[in-house]
Amino acid sequence: MTQKRVRVRAAPSPTGFIHVGNLRTFIYDDFLAKQSGGDFVLRIEDTDQERFVPGAIEKLILTLKRMGIEPNEGVWLADDDKTIVQRGDHGPYIQSERKTRHQEVAKELLARDKAYYCFCTEERLGEMRKLQEAAHQPTGYDGHCRRIDKIEAEKRVAAGEEHVIRLKMPEEGAAVVNDIIRGTVKFDWKLVDDQVIVKKDGMATYHLAAMVDDHDMEITHILRGEEWLSSAPKHVFIFEAMGWEAPAFAHVPLILNPDRSKLSKRQGDVFAEQYLDKGYLPEALINFLALLGYNPKDDQEIYTREELTRLFDLSKVNKAGAIFNIEKLNWLNNHYLRQKSEADYLALVLPHLPAEETDADLKRRVALLFRERLVLPSEITALSTFIFLTHLDYSTASLTWKDRTKDEAIERLKTAKAWISELSDTDALDVSKVETTIKSKIVEKGWGNGDTLWPLRVSLSGLDKSPSPFELIATYGKNRALARIDDALAYLLK
Ligand code: GLU
Repeated sequence: MTQKRVRVRAAPSPTGFIHVGNLRTFIYDDFLAKQSGGDFVLRIEDTDQERFVPGAIEKLILTLKRMGIEPNEGVWLADDDKTIVQRGDHGPYIQSERKTRHQEVAKELLARDKAYYCFCTEERLGEMRKLQEAAHQPTGYDGHCRRIDKIEAEKRVAAGEEHVIRLKMPEEGAAVVNDIIRGTVKFDWKLVDDQVIVKKDGMATYHLAAMVDDHDMEITHILRGEEWLSSAPKHVFIFEAMGWEAPAFAHVPLILNPDRSKLSKRQGDVFAEQYLDKGYLPEALINFLALLGYNPKDDQEIYTREELTRLFDLSKVNKAGAIFNIEKLNWLNNHYLRQKSEADYLALVLPHLPAEETDADLKRRVALLFRERLVLPSEITALSTFIFLTHLDYSTASLTWKDRTKDEAIERLKTAKAWISELSDTDALDVSKVETTIKSKIVEKGWGNGDTLWPLRVSLSGLDKSPSPFELIATYGKNRALARIDDALAYLLK
């Protein structure tokens, strides 16, 4: 038997943002399609018109573009990044444009006695729910319209009575869902609601629309969040009722806060856009999210995208929710930022240095000074503020070393000034030259490192903690460094 070509889909609703949980599912989709040479379809699920946000489809695709995730079929943006295009021969890929097809399947389900018209009013449903709640029963449709004679129901519909269409779920036995991650999951049919599949406005709900589209688009694997697992029996039911072969399901575990609650806005950022806007790099996010729920090897944390794609195994994804550990993401971001070429690194970091500073060489040196330390490019602003100040405030950090005297600090600074003055402009920009020169001069004098380097470093930074005086001199350049030491001396001599 020849194996079917793998076809997966990302099916986001255009709410304007991509939840990191969905992003991880899309990353897995991408791995699966790429490793098997299959297709990755982007379908927009916009049947819930109340949730529709103008411009959301474009925004969503731009986020995928920023992440470097490009499905090869379905909805996309033209090169102008503005015009929505649909690529492929299983379209349309915007769900609301498939309304007629969904209605056709709903009619077929009615004809097969797998669905029925329901005329219950909101009021009745509200009353029903209240009674169920009062009796501590599970809430769900009570099947009131299930038993209305078919011909009568059709007459009422023809007469224009408001209605929805519901699935006619089995009333006994168990539904079986085969899930690649979870194995066989059984559900008691009694507990599965008669789901609405077509709303009053004639629009299909997710449950019908997504399954019809998955069938029509020849999707072989439905990867989606765990929150959909409880709906899976309804979906399997639709496939069976229509006599269609169901795709494989894989319900990807939830992403959790450190306290194991569902990742929520209250405890941090939840959308891909927020992380990208803060300066998290796509490669760090992909590495991080891919490993939330699955690690191909126990002893490795850093993987290239190619490795992750090659090693990905859907059946090994954990069943349990995965904790979103921001420290790990930070660690990975720092790693990938350090990996950038100098030019790419500078392009990310320079915009965060003061626009009014016109010395481009100084800015470049400042950016490189903090290269190893940054988690996010924007952190450079706070770290380097002191460098761009005209004068430092020496009242906050002590210029004197431990219990040494002010006079000693003055002596050390005056001498260090002389040493720096002797350096050529170019040598003063070379951190190792600065370091060897100053250290050997300290030895010649018979002074200590602490009592000399502390006042020197604080004179250059005005801070208790900062990069070493050698790095600071090589960043400032000779003249700026000397001016700082002069300022510190003036402060001490006041
Ligand atoms: N439109 C659904 C959502 O955004 C998609 C779920 C699915 O992948 O089937 O949550």
